[in-house]
Amino acid sequence: MNALATRLVDRCLAQPADERDIAVVERQLGRYPRGMVAVGARCVCGRPLAVVTRPLLPGGIPFPTTCYLTGPQAVKAASHAEAAGAMYEYNDRLAADEELRRAYEQAHALYLAFRHELAVRLGDDEEHIAGISAGGMPTRVKCLHALLAQTLVMGPGANPIGDMALERIADEFSPTVCRCAVDDE
Ligand SMILES: [Zn+2]
Repeated sequence: MNALATRLVDRCLAQPADERDIAVVERQLGRYPRGMVAVGARCVCGRPLAVVTRPLLPGGIPFPTTCYLTGPQAVKAASHAEAAGAMYEYNDRLAADEELRRAYEQAHALYLAFRHELAVRLGDDEEHIAGISAGGMPTRVKCLHALLAQTLVMGPGANPIGDMALERIADEFSPTVCRCAVDDE
């Protein structure tokens, strides 16, 4: 049992996504957000930044990326960091720093505990995504968007690489500084 995972799932299920959230996320992604359970993180202005998606999408499709980045400014900033080589740097750091490696493994475990708790409460089968988290965890950094989404949904300290990425892109994106464009709405 992971108390933080339980608390996070409680929070998501206490405020399930409503029609308006779903409509905004649909515009952010350019597609209907199937299986969206809740908005997991919001900009200070209230717009969704990351969503929580159920482990099994309607139609029985397994979906491992439980925390999904949707905020256009956040998505763009993560892409810029990736293009600038942030993932090479983080993979090098992981290789060199045992403490970081351990914290990253814990982020993976927290991700799985969160999804397991969601699966239990929603009655979703996890068989096809057992042990799979997101973003390259637990050993590699492959997608900053996924790691950043975990950090935004679960808060500081949940994912050390997500924390680093958030700090790195602070001039371009921060959940505490609204840079949302009017046309996101
Ligand atoms: Zn905003």
